Amino acid sequence: MEIMVTCSSCKEQYHHAYLHCTTCHKQGPYPNVYLATQEQANLQQNFQDALLRAKKRGVDNLLLQLQHQVDSASKACINRSVPELSLALHENRALGRYYKEVQAGRRLLDDDPWTRLRAQADQYFFHGFHEEIHFAALTLNDSGMSSYGSCCLLLKEALIDERASLFRENTGLYFREHQPSEKNPVTPGWRAVWAERGMLAACKLQEQLTTTTASSDFADLLIQFSPEDAELDDFLEVHIYGSLTIKTVQQVVISPQSGEESQTDRLTKRLEERKIPFQIA
Ligand SMILES: [Zn+2]
Repeated sequence: MEIMVTCSSCKEQYHHAYLHCTTCHKQGPYPNVYLATQEQANLQQNFQDALLRAKKRGVDNLLLQLQHQVDSASKACINRSVPELSLALHENRALGRYYKEVQAGRRLLDDDPWTRLRAQADQYFFHGFHEEIHFAALTLNDSGMSSYGSCCLLLKEALIDERASLFRENTGLYFREHQPSEKNPVTPGWRAVWAERGMLAACKLQEQLTTTTASSDFADLLIQFSPEDAELDDFLEVHIYGSLTIKTVQQVVISPQSGEESQTDRLTKRLEERKIPFQIA
């Protein structure tokens, strides 16, 4: 099904993957956010269903607390290695996006099965604009997905909220498991806009809440990190359209791995010079 946008200025229609109207070039909605807005009614319905099920189990107040905590306190975080972050600290350098780096020749293609799967999934989920997307995870306790690098970059909400959308899980793993297609579309209501990420988290985690769950447990439910196998990591995936730089970063949390100590020292000096807040975990 082709999803079209109606231009707010000239009223012509254009494919949602374009950021600008193809007739008059007026900027329209961010494509990933537009896709999420198409599923808002499904998400709302899923949330009402989750709330009913939670009520039967006596955890409906806890579910509402989870929704509120995620809406008010969760952040998008991106993990990068020490060398990758060091590169991004140069003036006039954006944070790398995979496909743009490959195009520029800064990163070389490989035939790793995961790279191939990722490419298929990205072209399916972000058809026509996958090169523009930064991937992040949603966190409540400032700890990210260390399998993607030991530096966790927490992003400033005000600089991403209008261009971020979410998916209930890792889109690559979803693609492998469900093989979505025209006949078998992605489950409606599994996408959310930034302002409704609390509902998405509540729908996903409802079954994991029990009468002994405390609100202090929410952070560990939101990101379930598996040190042995990155494929078992479970998190809400955040998609951010367009460029990010070190100035989009609110704070860096570094968990140095062994062998990275001297690189980390140089990195923290650069972070101090650039006045980017950081902490060593
Ligand atoms: Zn137009």
